[in-house]
Amino acid sequence: MSALRVVCNQVSNPRATVMTGSMIEICEKCGQSVWLSPATAITVQEAMALNPDWSRREIICVPCASEVTEKILLMAPSPGQVAEIKAEVARRNA
Ligand SMILES: [Zn+2]
Repeated sequence: MSALRVVCNQVSNPRATVMTGSMIEICEKCGQSVWLSPATAITVQEAMALNPDWSRREIICVPCASEVTEKILLMAPSPGQVAEIKAEVARRNA
């Protein structure tokens, strides 16, 4: 069984784009607060429901993710995540 790693921006990163409705979670490696967007939370739930190999989710921040040395497989953004990004860009440009 393995964990589905979810890479999130640190709350302390002033350049991080924060999606509307994001929740604060904690990086499991360093304990920093991170943002988890609503669409990402849903995507994680759906992915875990479809793949029994992922027994749990592991929230980690971008700096901690950059230190992961094992082979990783990146998941493409889900349609929900893409829609969330587009809505956020439109909201900022309005
Ligand atoms: Zn971290």
